[in-house]
Formats: sequence, C-alpha cells, structure tokens
Amino acid sequence: MLRAVKVSLRGATQRKLGKLEALRREVRGCTQRYMDSLWTEPGRLDANTLNRVSGGSLSYRHRSNCLKVALETLSATRKAAKATGFMCGKPRVHGSTRLSSLVAKIEAGKGSFGYVLKVSGLAKGNPIVVPFKSHARLNHWLGKPGAKLLQGCTLGDKWAALWIEIPDREVKETGKAIGVDVGINKLMVDSDGAKYGVEMKAVCRRVRRCMPGSKGKRRACAARRDYINRQAKLLPWKDLAVIGVEKLRDLKKGKSKKRSKEFRKAAAPWTYRQMLDRIEQLAQENRVRLVAVNPRNTSRTCPRCGWVAAENRRGEKFQCVICNYSGDADHVGALNILARTLGNSQESMVPAPPGEEQRG
Ligand SMILES: [Zn+2]
Repeated sequence: MLRAVKVSLRGATQRKLGKLEALRREVRGCTQRYMDSLWTEPGRLDANTLNRVSGGSLSYRHRSNCLKVALETLSATRKAAKATGFMCGKPRVHGSTRLSSLVAKIEAGKGSFGYVLKVSGLAKGNPIVVPFKSHARLNHWLGKPGAKLLQGCTLGDKWAALWIEIPDREVKETGKAIGVDVGINKLMVDSDGAKYGVEMKAVCRRVRRCMPGSKGKRRACAARRDYINRQAKLLPWKDLAVIGVEKLRDLKKGKSKKRSKEFRKAAAPWTYRQMLDRIEQLAQENRVRLVAVNPRNTSRTCPRCGWVAAENRRGEKFQCVICNYSGDADHVGALNILARTLGNSQESMVPAPPGEEQRG
C-alpha cells in the first residue's frame, strides 16, 4: 500500500521558500498547458508531445515532469468518469504541485534535520535543497517492515507530501475480511463495493408517514426492522473470517429530550444502532470476528494514499486531491473501515453477547 505523509518545510529560509514558490508557479502553468493540449489532442510521454507547449523557464526535466503529471491526471479523470458515469470537465491544476522523482529527491540529512528534499531549481544545476525533520507519523510508517520512502513529492505552501510504500501483509485468518460502512440512505456498502438496502429511504418514509401510535405505524416499524434484518443476512457471511464496522457513536445524545424534530423524523441513530446490533448477532452466529474501528474521517480519507481532506469528498463522489484516486464515497468509507479493521486486529473490541446490551 501507499501512504502520503505531510512534512513541514518551515525549516527552510525565506529565500528558499521564495524560490520554491516561483518554481511551483511555473510548474503549475506548464502542467496546465499540457493538460489543455492533451484534452483536445491525445499524446504520450515523448519528444513530440513534449514540444507542443512552451515550458517557459523550466528545464527539460521539469517539462517532462509536467507532461507526466498531466498525462496521469487526465487518465485518472477519464477512468473516474467511466466508473461513475459523470463526465467531468477538463481538470484544473490546483495549489499544490506534484513533482515526480525526475525533479524531486529525498536524501538523508545532517544534524537535527533527518532528511533533505532536493528539487531541481529554475536555474540549471542549481537545486533547491530544503532540510526537514521527520515526525512520529512518518517514523511510524517508515518503521513498518519493508517500508520504502519513494522519491518525488507533492509540494504545497511550506509543506510537502511524501510517499511511502509498505508491502501488504497476509491476513492470518482463513476466510475473508471485509469492512462495512453503515449508512442511512444505503443501509450498507461493503469494501467489495456491494450495496445493501438501497430502498431504505422509502422504507423509512413509510414509517414517517404514519400517525404516531397507530396500527399502521407499528406495522411500518416492523417492516423496517425486517428489512434491516434481511439486508444484514445478505452479507457474505459464509466466506467471512473478519468483519469491520464503525464503533457506535455516542448514543446518549439520541436519548436527550432536546433532540430536534428532524432528528426524530430521520430516526437515523435508531436504525443505525439496529443495523449494527444485527451485524453483531450474525457475526457471532457465523463465528466471524467483529472489529469495531474508530469512525473518525473514514469518509474523508483516501484509501490509496491516506490523505485526509474534506475536499476529497463531493456528495456521493470521492476524489483524492493528492493522488487522484476516485470512487463512490460510501465504498471508500468501507475500504477505510477494512483497512482499520486489519490494522487494529490486536486491539479489536469484542462486543458483548446479544441480550446483555440491548435496548429495554
Ligand atoms: Zn490519495
């Protein structure tokens, strides 16, 4: 797997930061010109395509990097369009700048700075050398067996995102591990991308339409309960060894008298709880290990590089602002839950047996 980790470049002098800023501006402009050109006329990483646009004051290496990034971005955009069915417009180059191993190198540093970032500058043979310190998170990933710091980076304003490649470890259990994202509109999406309970909205609407205390209301609630139970059974229990879900959020909030009408109308915490209870029961019945993971940022984290940003998510669509990974937002949530499930396997929270922690 790949991880992106941010490091601070504040250790650099103002002069160097100024140079990096000027370089970023040039690289951004050049990458955009390649993107514009490639949008109308396809190309490849060769001299012909390279000569299509002017690189300004950029070196040959830098221009190659710009073309490479433009090609990658466009291919990721087209792939995303194919997968989601949305045809999006020509991509724009944003603030941060991707520098491949062609123009950015990371080397061991001296003294209190663990590393140096060497970026080919605008002037030939005059690299910009910026020392930076390692930190707990970077050390954490680099400490994994077989972890490798990749060359190249994404350069931002006074920061850089570095790439770490970590070999995938084998899962010990016999059987499959999946992550499940429990939601309201779609009841569940698993890490294989399968969706369950897509009619949940309609089922809940029926409950809301009925008069409180009426026979119809009771029937609608029973139908909703049945629906949830049926959907939970559809998970591939027979093949599973491990299932990861999000840890239950604070339920005391749901019992407060001050909760709003919308909150009650949505009945969200209730169905959420019911769904998780049901998964818990089925996991025990099928002798599948249940792991409850921290739900923080599961829908904002890139499952490929680990980048966390609210901008990664736009409604139902997920697109990483760093590595361009894209997909369905709920599926991404499930992938992150699975990743946490596998990463947290030692500290798994074994739930209480059904009956002990039920509603009264
Ligand atoms: Zn990413």
